[in-house]
Amino acid sequence: LVRGLEGIINQPCVTLDGHQVSLWVNTGLMSDVVRSLDHGAEGIGLFRTEVPFLLAERFPSEQEQAAIYREQLQAFAPKKVTMRTLDIGGDKALPYFPIEEANPFLGWRGIRVTLDHPEIFIAQARAMIRASEGLDNLQIMLPMVSNLQEVTGSIQIIKRALRELQEEGLDVSMPPIGVMIELPAAVYLTRAMCQMVDFVSVGSNDLTQYMLAVDRNNPRVADLYTSFHPAVLHALKHVVDAAHAEGKPVSICGEMAGDPASALLLVAMGFDILSMNASTLLKVKAVIRSVTLADAQTLLKDVMNLSDPQSIRASIDMALYNAG
Ligand code: PEP
Ligand code: MG
Repeated sequence: LVRGLEGIINQPCVTLDGHQVSLWVNTGLMSDVVRSLDHGAEGIGLFRTEVPFLLAERFPSEQEQAAIYREQLQAFAPKKVTMRTLDIGGDKALPYFPIEEANPFLGWRGIRVTLDHPEIFIAQARAMIRASEGLDNLQIMLPMVSNLQEVTGSIQIIKRALRELQEEGLDVSMPPIGVMIELPAAVYLTRAMCQMVDFVSVGSNDLTQYMLAVDRNNPRVADLYTSFHPAVLHALKHVVDAAHAEGKPVSICGEMAGDPASALLLVAMGFDILSMNASTLLKVKAVIRSVTLADAQTLLKDVMNLSDPQSIRASIDMALYNAG
């Protein structure tokens, strides 16, 4: 735990002028879940299901997956657990499912892989829904979506999984479905996607990479990789406004959410949920509790007019310093 911040674990995450924001966590292993509950997390905004797949020696069976998913759902119930369908490809390769490509980040990744392999997708959807029986706190989220057909196709598969389980006698219902907004194309489809799903969540790690055409893991261009780029900030604001215009909640689950300086901007933009690693949760909460929404919005307006990431960062740091 962060020293000196234990006192706010059970305090609400609310600004000085009463604006409430939910702080959720990103998980992969069971150890993350325990740590998250210790830090007062209000839900899981991103369970990276590829983590248990990466640790296995072959594709985990439906039964094996269901046991893993059940642990997460049970530990957090009745709080929501957002499970992302398998996000492999890019820099995440399963040893037992090699993908050789010249440009893996522009290739066969995330939802593209599972839609091409419905047997993998349906086993995973069945395992998730099976694990949620009697708990009712599952949400399913789709990674790397670039068009509306991928959303339609995914919903069809999830509905099929649900129907099968119901026919087998399980008492299960359709979980809320969400789409990750992590490609520039998805940013401009947010409204249309919100008409098809229950929520959207920004993956700012990939969104930054794809908007700026900067490989998130390449040290040579690391200086160019920053979510404080004004284009990224404008894209984020667009997503929030588009989701809210459709009456849908919007969260963010990339690293930005766990950085107190960016979290301040995200709150000002109107994100409903910030989802981060448990270790950053109390620091973010402390910052949000020390400012007014009105001041954060003034800061946002100011920085949206600046032209470079360095001066944006400096303005936020100054505001944080003034807020103590
Ligand atoms: C993201 O892209 O911001 C994200 C949360 O997903 P991942 O880091 O797992 O790609
Ligand atoms: Mg991503």
